[in-house]
Amino acid sequence: EGAANADYLEGLNAEQSDAVLTIDGPLLVLAGAGTGKTRVLTCRLAHILNTGRAYPSQILSVTFTNKAAREMRERVGGLIGQQVEGLPWLGTFHSIAAKILRIHAELVGLKSSFTILDTDDQIRLLKQVIKAADIDEKRWTGRYLAALIDSWKNKGLTPEKLSSKESYKFAEGKGAALYKTYQDRLKVLNACDFGDLLLHNLTLFMENPDVLKKYHQKFKYLLVDEYQDTNVCQYLWLRLLAQGSQNICVVGDDDQSIYGWRGAEVDNILRFEKDFPGAKVVKLERNYRSTEHILGAASGLIASNQDRLGKTLWTEDTGGHKVTVTGVWDAPAEARIVSDEIESWHYKGRKYNDVAILVRASRQMRSFEERFIQLGLPYRVIGGPRFFERLEIRDAHAYLRVLKSDTDDLAFERIVNTPKRGIGATTIQKLQQAARAMHISLEAATRELTKTDEIRGKARTALRAFILDIDRWRAEAKDIRHTEIAERILDESGYTQMWRDNKDAKSAGRLENLKELIQAMGEFDTLDAYLEHVSLVLDVEKGPQEDEVSLMTLHSAKGLEFPLVFLPGWEEGVFPSQKSMDENGLAGLEEERRLAYVGITRAREKAKIYFAANRQVYGSWQSSVPSRFIDELPIQHVDVETGTGQPASNRIAQDVARDFTSSFETARSQRASSPGWQRYEANKGKKYGRGPKEIEGHAIRRPAKKAVSEFKVGDRVFHQKFGYGRVTSADGNKLGVAFEKAGDKNVLDGFVDRA
Ligand code: ATP
Ligand code: MG
Repeated sequence: EGAANADYLEGLNAEQSDAVLTIDGPLLVLAGAGTGKTRVLTCRLAHILNTGRAYPSQILSVTFTNKAAREMRERVGGLIGQQVEGLPWLGTFHSIAAKILRIHAELVGLKSSFTILDTDDQIRLLKQVIKAADIDEKRWTGRYLAALIDSWKNKGLTPEKLSSKESYKFAEGKGAALYKTYQDRLKVLNACDFGDLLLHNLTLFMENPDVLKKYHQKFKYLLVDEYQDTNVCQYLWLRLLAQGSQNICVVGDDDQSIYGWRGAEVDNILRFEKDFPGAKVVKLERNYRSTEHILGAASGLIASNQDRLGKTLWTEDTGGHKVTVTGVWDAPAEARIVSDEIESWHYKGRKYNDVAILVRASRQMRSFEERFIQLGLPYRVIGGPRFFERLEIRDAHAYLRVLKSDTDDLAFERIVNTPKRGIGATTIQKLQQAARAMHISLEAATRELTKTDEIRGKARTALRAFILDIDRWRAEAKDIRHTEIAERILDESGYTQMWRDNKDAKSAGRLENLKELIQAMGEFDTLDAYLEHVSLVLDVEKGPQEDEVSLMTLHSAKGLEFPLVFLPGWEEGVFPSQKSMDENGLAGLEEERRLAYVGITRAREKAKIYFAANRQVYGSWQSSVPSRFIDELPIQHVDVETGTGQPASNRIAQDVARDFTSSFETARSQRASSPGWQRYEANKGKKYGRGPKEIEGHAIRRPAKKAVSEFKVGDRVFHQKFGYGRVTSADGNKLGVAFEKAGDKNVLDGFVDRA
């Protein structure tokens, strides 16, 4: 091998090292939670570098979050015992796509200085587009169109590729036209939205084969984590890039696919072997993260899903604590019991950092936050109320964007009368009309119109003063540090004063946030670098130096692990979420179940589940029914807790806990009459048409040579989980098997042995 020092290979099990050492050709690692998929990916990256197969700049690695990218960078450095220079192409889909787009912006009609819009700007712009088309904006909202456009972009659909069926989802078929107008407006503004980053990449590669070829030559290796959550657009992007070297390694777990609502397609896993014939498939079965009970509970739960490939998991970590299920009175009681548990964990000398609370919906966080603040218990919210999306932060960013660019109309419009300068809506409309008529920016129009009598009086004076301010700030920005100019702008514009004068309870917090913003900017060398960061990083992530409990949604917990995990709010309607079930029926329910599987499998030592008997939903109290997921946990891995270590002083909570079993029975019967449950029951035996669907608007380019299975109809096979059975159908590597005990299942041929 010629590897300098390959200590990193030593701890791996046989399958893991097989995956790490299979460097050339397409490779799919399909395995359950905690089996070391991410670890394999990291070792592989280290191995490629260590054996000199590629320079850091020749490896494209995609992670799901920026945080994961940072961790991977650090770990690779640790593994090969040296600082890894660069790894410039390690990041999220968005950050990598943005980087490529900056280089070739001109080829898709943008300038390389393009701005990336936030949702707020996006909706504002769409409202204009809808209004201009004379559509009833109350009936067809900007927000809805934004969501539709986003879903189209996730599917890789440009306005030209949109089917009329899709177009009909908005304003009786005007969807496509509005989408087109919006895209044109974005180009005029030299801007793009989040979804455009990848979509423009696709256009770029399809229309410029020479550019694509350059990246084929550049990227010798491609690595992708959390592959089960890629959407069609991301998939198409990867497929284009991987056609060069064919050295693509993806790792994923179909049971952890939790972004279906955002367009992710588990089918991409099945498609992988179609697109890359001869791809090697490695399965990992040993879980290194959790105890036997945690694993048993999670595996038992996910077994209720029918739409899955089916995998075996085992651990050497036998014994340990059973998963606990505790009933409480209401949300405050839940927060009390959880915080008691955390305190006692801490008294025993354990860290807060080792603790996570994973909620289904971010609104569940509030009761925990209140309790923690009351107790002074240190915590952080991960990916929660996003710092960069707060009103005052967006205003401040608009000022910075105007400082940077004289054509950023959206930013200009946002701040021209914030704080109030006496510039009314009619004046702004006049400016917009003029800008459109003269094909110039809003700022340029302001300069023109304030020269004449078009705009008069107080408004003209105010606009002139504002333009003078901007000119002065731009001149000063050349000489002083970006943090200083930012502070100056916020002061001199009167923006800070506006919040000082505001008597609202939140104002103090807003002023704090503005300070925090300057702090955040200080971590970057330039304003541009900072603004780029803001567009891309949605999560506020404090450094790991402090000892804090983590509070986050189940979605943001993907890929992470904690010794102690709390899973509150396991009630019907909350989790599984009513909305998911109503909108997507059984598929929605199964996605919720995968989310529960993700939640439980984050735990290393202890997983603790709670449900409240009463919950306030949008202001009104409702008595709640324990989640069906509680029912589905295999009883041998579960302890029903009657209260906690030191039960809360609340007697009612204790009573609820004591009555757990009986309330459970009531719940079961109540549930039987709920429509969601009935639909679930009705669909229970239904078979799924698995196997990759054609992607709308994108004919699969190469008529993929079908991977031929070594099994044929009639063969007797053995599956770790389902036991013995006979093959009833073989479609590529996908087998239909009639198992003797488990009945008819679809499985991948890699998961069965000849019997
Ligand atoms: P998920 O599906 O949740 O993303 P994963 O398959 O990516 O999980 P990892 O996070 O890579 O799993 O690994 C889970 C835990 O097991 C980590 O703490 C990792 O360090 C540990 N681990 C993985 N492989 C080994 C091994 N061969 N020896 C010891 N520990 C291991
Ligand atoms: Mg992982």
